[in-house]
Amino acid sequence: MRKINKNIKDIPISLNSKNTEKKRNELIKSKKLLSGNFNANYKAEDVKNKLNEIYHQKCAYCEQKVEQIEIEHYRPKSIYYWLIYSWDNLFFVCPKCNKFKNNYFENENERVNFEDKDLTNIHQLRDKYDKIEKPKVFNPEKENPQKLLKFDKKGKIFSKHENLQFTINLCQLNREYLTDKRKKFFDETIRIIKISISGIGSQIAQKEKLNEILKKDDTLEFTAYRNFCKEILKKMLKF
Ligand SMILES: [Zn+2]
Repeated sequence: MRKINKNIKDIPISLNSKNTEKKRNELIKSKKLLSGNFNANYKAEDVKNKLNEIYHQKCAYCEQKVEQIEIEHYRPKSIYYWLIYSWDNLFFVCPKCNKFKNNYFENENERVNFEDKDLTNIHQLRDKYDKIEKPKVFNPEKENPQKLLKFDKKGKIFSKHENLQFTINLCQLNREYLTDKRKKFFDETIRIIKISISGIGSQIAQKEKLNEILKKDDTLEFTAYRNFCKEILKKMLKF
C-alpha cells in the first residue's frame, strides 16, 4: 500500500452530469441501490481513465498492476448508496481485493444517519464522515502508510497501526500469490544488485548503482516493498 495523490476537487465530468444527479436523487428517494445497470454512472469512461492515471493502474490495497480496472467504493455503495457517485469515495482496485473487502465497513462509532445529512459537497464528504464514524479501513488517499508498514524477506506485510493491520487482514494482503510475488521480487533484486555492483570498486559508485536500480518510480508494482528491499540492501552493503 502507498499514499495515493488524488485531487478530490478535480472531479470527472460524468460524476457531475445532470443524469448522474438525477440518478442519485432517485437512489436517495428509494433509500437503496436500484437493480440492473441503473447505478452504473460511476463506471463511466472518464472516471476509469482518471483513476487509471492517478493510481498508475495499481490496486489501492495490494499494489498489483491491474489490466482490468475495478472501481471500489471505500464506503460501500450498498450501505452508503448516496455516495455511489462521489469522487472521494472511488478507488482503483484489483478484483481480489475488491472481493475480499466487498461490502464490509466497520466503524468505531455509529454510522452517519442519512436523514440528517447535508449533501452539498457530495464529492468531499469523507473528512466529515470520518470524524463522526472513525472507520477501521485504512484510506491510502488520506494517510500515508509508508512508515507504518513493516515487511519481511518472505514477502509478508504487517503493521502495528491498528487500522492498517485491520485492512491487511480484511483484504488478505498476505495471500499466497502476493507473498510469493513479493518474495520473488526481493530475491531477484538482491541477485541483480550483487551482480551489478560486483565489479564496482568505489562505494559511492555502488550506492549510485543501487539508487539507479531501485529508483523511486510510482508506476512500478509494490512501491512500499521496493523501499523495504532498498533498506535491507543498504544494510547488507553497509552503506
Ligand atoms: Zn488488490
